[in-house]
Amino acid sequence: MISIAIDGPSGAGKSTISRKAAEMFGFIYVDTGAIYRTIGLASKTHNVSLYNKKAVIEMLPKLKIELKYNDAGEQHMYLDGKDVSRDIRLPEVSMLASKVSAIPEVRAFLIDMQRDMAEKYDVIMDGRDIGTVILPNADLKIFLTADVSDRARRRYEELCAKGMDKPFGEVLAEMKQRDEQDTERAAAPLKPAEDAVMLDTSGNTLEQSVAEVCRLISDRTGKKSVNGHE
Ligand code: C5P
Repeated sequence: MISIAIDGPSGAGKSTISRKAAEMFGFIYVDTGAIYRTIGLASKTHNVSLYNKKAVIEMLPKLKIELKYNDAGEQHMYLDGKDVSRDIRLPEVSMLASKVSAIPEVRAFLIDMQRDMAEKYDVIMDGRDIGTVILPNADLKIFLTADVSDRARRRYEELCAKGMDKPFGEVLAEMKQRDEQDTERAAAPLKPAEDAVMLDTSGNTLEQSVAEVCRLISDRTGKKSVNGHE
């Protein structure tokens, strides 16, 4: 099986780029942030305070978390049997996800789920610790970055497109806070793997970044993408 690990901070374009590249190579795209978001959402629906680490850990074995793909190949997350794929995109859930993901027991709880996917399928998996912890033997590791203001602007535009009303300043402040939490935590902090290819997407169009990632995948795996991109 082929596995491509794509890590980087929020808003660097990881999910859109990974999804498009996966489509082009006929690989499965695994969005691991969605899994942490599902745990973040669970803490809310189960009324568990994120400041009570013990309660978060005790909640884990009671949860039924499933990752499924629909006929169009889109990943859906289920929590206790309910499709929560939309709910986990709410901005407040981003912060909950970032908080629960700093708990080592939460990370350990999710390791097998992520590795199982890479054992069964050719995957492009994106997250924060895919190259460093989850798939240390990935065929290719890419660390995507972009200026924080670029990333906040993209996230702001995404939220506007979804009709969510949030001032740009707040989006930027939250992005900086999440960067800090994700980078400074003791458990699997956000950092490039030693053998990762660094790719800065600041100022790139989406198409340019996708083309660049597809080229790296082709070069490393010898596979041609199905729609002619290299
Ligand atoms: O990628 P996304 O922004 O959806 O992830 C939400 C949060 O989940 C991140 O801020 C990060 O704290 C956490 N996360 C993580 N490890 C991953 C993926 C996401 O800690 N592999």
